[in-house]
Amino acid sequence: MKIGILGLGLIGGSLGYDLRSLGHHVLGVSRRSSTCARAIALGSVDAASVDMSLLAAADVVFICTPIALIVPQFQQLITHLPVTTVITDVGSVKAPIVEAIAPLWSNFIGGHPMAGTTDSGIEAAQRDLFVGKPYVLTPDATTPKTAMTIVEEIVRSLGANLYYCQPEQHDRAVSLISHLPVIVSAALIATCMGETDSQVLQLAQNLASSGFRDTSRVGGGNPELGVMMAQYNRQALLNSLAQYRQNLDELTNLIVQSDWADLELKLQANGKARPKFVE
Ligand code: NAP
Repeated sequence: MKIGILGLGLIGGSLGYDLRSLGHHVLGVSRRSSTCARAIALGSVDAASVDMSLLAAADVVFICTPIALIVPQFQQLITHLPVTTVITDVGSVKAPIVEAIAPLWSNFIGGHPMAGTTDSGIEAAQRDLFVGKPYVLTPDATTPKTAMTIVEEIVRSLGANLYYCQPEQHDRAVSLISHLPVIVSAALIATCMGETDSQVLQLAQNLASSGFRDTSRVGGGNPELGVMMAQYNRQALLNSLAQYRQNLDELTNLIVQSDWADLELKLQANGKARPKFVE
């Protein structure tokens, strides 16, 4: 199959590696010609260009640009494509993208691979990034069965675990497990950096180990992606933050009241709940 990738960064470049390994012919389009040349040299794509018309030959196109650009890039892209081309995107937010694109392109299905790193750009692309990771598709009642099957088969072939949901359900769920953690983790780093005693701050930096590495990782990631998550999933994120603040207040009150028994019960309940989210 000829597969097009628009936006050769972490996600687009990683898709390219795996799709080529699976025997597909991968055509890449990116903003900078230096990225296109690098993607070819690294073996992420067979051919690449800054000119979207390269994708006219593709059977399927994955739009992998930053969230804010997905709809504007789609609008330019479709002037080059036959109506039979299947289009999907990888944006971390689904409702605003699906609402904008689905009415304009029947062979469209929204998607979101739940895989990534804190790095960005073509150099950050990795092979097998999607293996064993969730990959959500958000079809609606009008999505053609053939388009669904094509995207489903590609996603399965990446080794990803396929899930389906409504775009709004997706955005609420990811606000809890992806976007809220970015803000919470960012607040954690900011709190540490707010230490006014320079010796204590230095000591904290020296002593930080695996626990801080885990809890600070997403807060120290790509700032543009963090802003776009907040901007495009604003209401769901605000709701999640309000729930988080309530839980933080409850835990704080237990500590203020030295209610160690209830604090232990809460922490026990959380310890039991965690495996339901991560193995
Ligand atoms: P990224 O590494 O920054 O890659 C985005 C690429 O898009 C850039 O390398 C850039 O290529 C290209 N680009 C920028 N403007 C463009 C334009 N006007 N036309 C064509 N290409 C353009 O970002 P990413 O992490 O791969 O994220 C891409 C998408 O994946 C986002 O929608 C994000 O929500 C989604 N996503 C990200 C993650 C994650 O953890 N990072 C996970 C799942 C989904 P140039 O080098 O040519 O400028």
